[in-house]
Amino acid sequence: MPIRCEIVSQDRMVYEGDVDIVVLPGTDGEMGVLPHHAPLLTTLKFGLIKVRTKSDEQVFTVAGGVAEIQPNIVTVLADSAENVLEIDIARAETARKRAEEALSSVKPEDVDAYLALEAALRRSNLRLDAAKRFRTGKRTTYMEE
Ligand code: ATP
Repeated sequence: MPIRCEIVSQDRMVYEGDVDIVVLPGTDGEMGVLPHHAPLLTTLKFGLIKVRTKSDEQVFTVAGGVAEIQPNIVTVLADSAENVLEIDIARAETARKRAEEALSSVKPEDVDAYLALEAALRRSNLRLDAAKRFRTGKRTTYMEE
């Protein structure tokens, strides 16, 4: 029996489906969630969510959020998330450059601006790293080597 997985970001439903396992970047470490898992609420750090069936694996970047686990459903409320196949590399490179340039001139006392730029830089780096890692050449599966 599979487990339902729903990944929702602030602006859209990113994924919904029935899968065999969901791997989450929990704040306390990577966790694999199987059907019939005990109820649990966890915060998520920046990283990858993997949803697997017997024949397929899909990988998503997630820039923090929370996951609610119930025995038959995993609900991820992400600050931002996208399938690695959806990542627009040019956009992420532009975002990284913009954040790097702005960080180099932000005033030290402007903590909010600094933290926002640092988060933007981390999001763009996460997307670029994931695209590089999971979208190379003739790879037919996302499984890590
Ligand atoms: P940008 O400055 O390029 O908008 P951002 O990090 O500020 O990047 P977010 O606020 O995290 O963007 O996300 C807004 C929406 O755009 C989300 O739906 C997110 O999945 C999507 N998104 C952001 N960057 C990319 C990208 N490089 N490729 C595909 N989708 C992206």
